[in-house]
Amino acid sequence: MGKQDYYEVLGVSRQAEEEEIKKAYRKLALKYHPDRNPGKKEAEEYFKEAAEAYEVLHDPQKRRMYDTYGHEGLQGSGFSGFHGFEDIFSSFGDIFQDFFFGFGGSSRTQTASQPGNDLLYDMTLSFEEAVFGVEKEIQVQTFVECDRCSGSGAEPGTKETTCPMCQGSGQVVQSQGFFRISTTCSRCHGAGRVLVSPCSHCRGQGRVKQPKRVEVKVPAGVDTGTRLRLRGEGESGYRGGLSGDLYVRLNVKPHESFERDGDNLYGKVAISFVQAALGDQVEVSTLEGKKTIHIQPGTQPGSVIRFPGDGVPRLRGNGRGDFFFEVQVKIPARLSPRQEELLRELMEIEKKGGEEKVRKWPWPRHKDREKDASSSHSREAMS
Ligand SMILES: [Zn+2]
Ligand SMILES: [Zn+2]
Repeated sequence: MGKQDYYEVLGVSRQAEEEEIKKAYRKLALKYHPDRNPGKKEAEEYFKEAAEAYEVLHDPQKRRMYDTYGHEGLQGSGFSGFHGFEDIFSSFGDIFQDFFFGFGGSSRTQTASQPGNDLLYDMTLSFEEAVFGVEKEIQVQTFVECDRCSGSGAEPGTKETTCPMCQGSGQVVQSQGFFRISTTCSRCHGAGRVLVSPCSHCRGQGRVKQPKRVEVKVPAGVDTGTRLRLRGEGESGYRGGLSGDLYVRLNVKPHESFERDGDNLYGKVAISFVQAALGDQVEVSTLEGKKTIHIQPGTQPGSVIRFPGDGVPRLRGNGRGDFFFEVQVKIPARLSPRQEELLRELMEIEKKGGEEKVRKWPWPRHKDREKDASSSHSREAMS
């Protein structure tokens, strides 16, 4: 199902000023607030939609992104809507206290614990780091366990107690004639327990939003698109809930002289045509220092020399790929008089040698020779 337009959700025009957006949101939020509409699923949805629309439209940067690219633009920026009320409340922080002071109280601190969200972090690596692996410390904006209440959400020295409204069942049963209708308790939202006194540091959430440093061990052999999963390093859970995971998505920068295809590496080695003809030993740079390449006499341009096992370590499994060097043959652009002299001499020999070689080749058969002769004849006649 497609998402509804944020302006339509709030009922404002696309040109609406910030104050107008705020007003429209305040109205909707008060109307559909879960404390005013216990057990009404629809109201809950409207409330969430309005909060999401406001979150985007009151932030000039997000609003511009949304105006230009729509909902997809926001996904690219890492904003993907809210996943629950805790998300909404933690995102707005004090503005909600302002809005809802006086009714419902702190009911939002009285829901059961919930797992934390997963996080996604994009990391860029150098070519070498991807091939050999690396350890990096990153910083993520996340929820971490509140150290005042150790994640429980309760002010130190106080405890959770059984919800007085539902007596701990999480459900409220009402009788209507023959029917008994059971709904989720609006005080504890089904948890069955409430906080006597929410922690003053995290307001009962059991977690606080703050940057966290994480040590990431990148194994050897990763490539662009590899995703690493760090269990439990995502957002801390709400009121002692399980922590989410942290996913690290890798992007590898290209190398200036080498290319990579899977586990194999590709480089180039340039030699002179004399080295190609006579054979030689040349040094090449690899990711692990210098290596000697043995050029065979008569090596052709484009020949490939392979170093088995000098490629990229296999991310899954053992061993490494291969390193391939393609031979490029350089033709001198300038010659000294002595070099020119030698090359001219060589050219003379080649001319003679070339004639000898041609003589050794089998002559065309009698018939073919005749055909050749006649065709060349007719060409001459026409010109
Ligand atoms: Zn706390
Ligand atoms: Zn209850």
